[in-house]
Amino acid sequence: MNRILITGGAGFLGSHLCDALLERGADVVCVDNFFSGYKDNIRHLFSHSYFELIRHDIIHPLFLEVDKIYNLACPASPLYYQNNAIKTVKTSVMGTINMLGMAKRIKARILLASTSEVYGNPAVHPQKESYWGNVNPVGVRSCYDEGKRVAETLMMDYHRQNNVDTRIVRIFNTYGPRMAINDGRVVSNFIVQALRGEPVTVYGDGTQTRSFCYVSDLIDAFILTMDKEGFTQPVNLGNPAESTILELAEKIITLTKSSSKIIRKPLPSDDPVRRCPDISLAKEKLGWQPKIGLEEGLLKTIAYFREKLDIKKR
Ligand code: NAD
Ligand code: UDP
Repeated sequence: MNRILITGGAGFLGSHLCDALLERGADVVCVDNFFSGYKDNIRHLFSHSYFELIRHDIIHPLFLEVDKIYNLACPASPLYYQNNAIKTVKTSVMGTINMLGMAKRIKARILLASTSEVYGNPAVHPQKESYWGNVNPVGVRSCYDEGKRVAETLMMDYHRQNNVDTRIVRIFNTYGPRMAINDGRVVSNFIVQALRGEPVTVYGDGTQTRSFCYVSDLIDAFILTMDKEGFTQPVNLGNPAESTILELAEKIITLTKSSSKIIRKPLPSDDPVRRCPDISLAKEKLGWQPKIGLEEGLLKTIAYFREKLDIKKR
């Protein structure tokens, strides 16, 4: 039996990973402290014989016997991770040490959900894995960025020093159903605002770019990375189709047929100007590239929020 632990399993990405692994016949243990995740994301799994839920905070040690660990626990939205910045650092550092300690003890393979934020405000475009990044170590985003950078360091040191079988995925902005309504990230914010007919809040002049990946594409890549033998180097996972935040706002208003107007709000500090993954390594090593385009992915996500908000189709 393939016994798999998913930390952060009640979150946006974690809950989709629980689904995908159960569909593949795995025995899944989901660990979550419900800081930014919700039982609603996994409620449909409660009666599944191979699904277990443990309420636990990974900054405390955990003793389980599994074959693989997907370490996803960490709030991903700036709103949530800045809400308790010190806790965010603890989750990335102490949480990753605890999961690596467990992986070492039970000889489990472990994957870290790292982030494009390790590149900070990148001076190189698009970003390749070999780029060391441009991160402000003392800014409001550093609890997340530097936390993940230390988590990557820990992964590599446990690999070099203790032979732990590690995987590191650097995730670029991913969206889809089960993002929380109040999550604060751009796709969920814009869709919820457009569906409610409220102003769509573009921060700054909206010329900053992001590259948006649909959740099912990312989950496929997670599993391919975990199952690839000897693949310890960090790998970028994301959709290289880059768009400005203003273009995203306009697209979402069109797709929702909303009457919402765009308004400007101040740009948060250290907001990266451009972000786009170079995914040649994932293509070469995993034979992976995203299949779902932005419009198709947004339509699926809009349908989800429409139902969640109970808003009738216009
Ligand atoms: P999310 O906030 O929806 O999920 C994170 C989950 O981790 C939540 O269920 C939360 O309750 C749980 N959690 C947080 N701290 C914990 C702790 N100390 N102990 C136990 N559980 C804890 O975010 P997400 O989008 O699903 O992101 C999942 C992972 O992927 C995170 O590590 C995030 O940094 C990474 N990531 C996501 C994106 C993205 O675009 N979605 C981009 C880059 C990296
Ligand atoms: N953003 C925005 N309006 C919002 C939320 C976010 O204009 O209501 C911008 C934000 O300033 C950033 C981009 O959208 O430039 C992506 O923000 P998000 O928080 O989703 O992710 P991250 O900045 O971590 O990539």
